[in-house]
Amino acid sequence: MATTLDTAPGTTGRPAGAGSGPGEPCILLKLGEVVLKGKNRQLFERRLQNNIRAALRGLGDAVIWNRSGVIVVRLPGADEATQAEAAKRVGDVMGIVWVHRAWRVEKNPEAVVDASVRLLSGRTGSFAVKARRRDKRFPMNSSEISVLVGSAVQEAYGLPVNLKHPDNTVHIEVDQREVFVFTDGTLGQGGLPVGMSGRALVLMSGGIDSPVAAHRMMRRGLRVDFLHFSGMPFTGPESIYKAYGLVRELDRFQGGSRLFVVPFGKAQQQLKASGADRLQVVAQRRLMLKTGEALAHRLGAAALVTGDSLGQVSSQTLANLTALDDAVDLPILRPLVGFDKTEIMSEARRIRTLHISELPDEDCCTLLTPRQVETRAKIDDLRQIERRLDAEELAERLADTIQEHRPAAYAEKEPARA
Ligand code: ATP
Ligand code: MG
Repeated sequence: MATTLDTAPGTTGRPAGAGSGPGEPCILLKLGEVVLKGKNRQLFERRLQNNIRAALRGLGDAVIWNRSGVIVVRLPGADEATQAEAAKRVGDVMGIVWVHRAWRVEKNPEAVVDASVRLLSGRTGSFAVKARRRDKRFPMNSSEISVLVGSAVQEAYGLPVNLKHPDNTVHIEVDQREVFVFTDGTLGQGGLPVGMSGRALVLMSGGIDSPVAAHRMMRRGLRVDFLHFSGMPFTGPESIYKAYGLVRELDRFQGGSRLFVVPFGKAQQQLKASGADRLQVVAQRRLMLKTGEALAHRLGAAALVTGDSLGQVSSQTLANLTALDDAVDLPILRPLVGFDKTEIMSEARRIRTLHISELPDEDCCTLLTPRQVETRAKIDDLRQIERRLDAEELAERLADTIQEHRPAAYAEKEPARA
């Protein structure tokens, strides 16, 4: 039986950061979609590891271990603030269901008891011990560990046991090289690792819906780029600032995000000049999609994503959504199609985009909006308008005018080490 902590080559068993703790601090990650089997599972885990490493860039040399259904992240030598920052960041990495800040302790019963008792120091209320063994060779089984630790805690603090609704829970997980002990955890994002499902392009207004749509699709494993249409030169740059701020928030979930901005005002005017009238809004949206398709081909993106929700506004009736689908060959993913606005807003609050979306701006869509918007757009009429100004050619030219930005969530700066 191992009695000292096994560490990766080139590191020591007791790093400086361990300090006064009952072992070495680490982050224990529980994975989602465990139904995945075989090759897919390997792909999932490899992709996830790479994404975790990318999210931790700038926080020191992370050591990442894969155990069955669990990933262990160590930052040897990192101080408490850096460990906390790392735990926060991995909480935004798609594919992780639970994030636990845990202690790695030596693989013997005394060390486990000592760590558990220390972790409950200062706590009040009832407690429970939940033990499990991933390594069945450990000399005690789960209930024996629970009994041993439970009685030690009772003796130390006199806390009552409550197995059904405890105020505090000590989790003990016996692994191959060490035992993990922890009390609390935070929910991760769930879903699949970004990149596992390919690449898509999100049409991103400054509004509430499209950032939520982007988050939903990243969560299903798509790596996304963002495309924003501003009303420039007929509006100010405010909507671009909002799109930039939104992408910077969303970058927490994938890293390396790109925002492409198209000044769209003149093209909107051309649509009006070719007699779009009541069809102006739907015609604009079709031109956005066509431009998106031209860009998607250049980026190797296999789908477009929008924040459409059925019936939310007059441009989103079933007939109008059908007319939008007709504009492009690429599939249009609409993850919010069946969501109510209140549901979308609470999700926007949770992913921290709502406060940016609610800032005032001059949306390009409100430029040249007709007094009445057609709710049953006819595809033939739209195609006729588009023939007058050669929309395909215009979309290609718009894609040429694109400006690229890289709004990053985290600065690439090495923090001070402990
Ligand atoms: P949002 O809150 O996302 O702005 P919305 O309820 O305002 O959505 P619309 O303005 O009809 O609805 O837009 C529907 C979708 O069309 C948006 O979710 C977005 O995907 C796309 N879209 C609209 N305006 C723009 C824009 N200026 N730039 C890029 N995409 C846009
Ligand atoms: Mg909008």
